[in-house]
Amino acid sequence: MAITHISFDLDGTLITLAGMEFKLWYDVVPTLYSKKHNISFSEAYAHCRREYDKVSLKNIIFYDPPRWFKEFGLEQDSREIINNLSSSKELVYPDVAPTLELLQQKYKLVLFTNTDRSGMEIKLKSTGLGKYFSEQISAVSDIGFVKTDPQAYEKLVEKLGIQKENLVHVGDYVHHDYEPARSVGVKSILIDRDGAFDDTYDKILTLGDVEKFL
Ligand SMILES: [Mg+2]
Repeated sequence: MAITHISFDLDGTLITLAGMEFKLWYDVVPTLYSKKHNISFSEAYAHCRREYDKVSLKNIIFYDPPRWFKEFGLEQDSREIINNLSSSKELVYPDVAPTLELLQQKYKLVLFTNTDRSGMEIKLKSTGLGKYFSEQISAVSDIGFVKTDPQAYEKLVEKLGIQKENLVHVGDYVHHDYEPARSVGVKSILIDRDGAFDDTYDKILTLGDVEKFL
């Protein structure tokens, strides 16, 4: 059956993870926490790290910035902070726009992320990537599953109104993208920008190579 849709993970696949998310959770939030509770940055950092570590990456609440801000007693608006942090086109990997531009002419492109809907919208707007996607889907907000759960991919196919054979998913994370998709019969491709994975994976080193697997 023909591939009609390609879904893409966002962080680490289309935009650099080292950018906004890292700065938010390991710099901005501990800084705000240290001011709020009048403790040093390193104490605040350690506290935040401990709290993050307590929540599994598989738990939907991990992906809810307003919840974390509330949890840490921070009055600031997380959305506004995320908006300010992500206002840079430099977050986008250089091979992304040219590849999406080409693929868009032959396939329906879908954005499928663990970022909550509000964060996703901010990131797509600030990076200018939104225009490439006919569907923009937050797994946690719109489907109710973290992508580590294979059901997220079953629901994705259902939501798109297609068969799983019509979809290919591209992502950088084995446990969020590659494996859960495959386990329900959705073909997946691992993007391995650092060349960290062996050849047992269907992998590409640059996004432009994605068509090799289509
Ligand atoms: Mg990712």
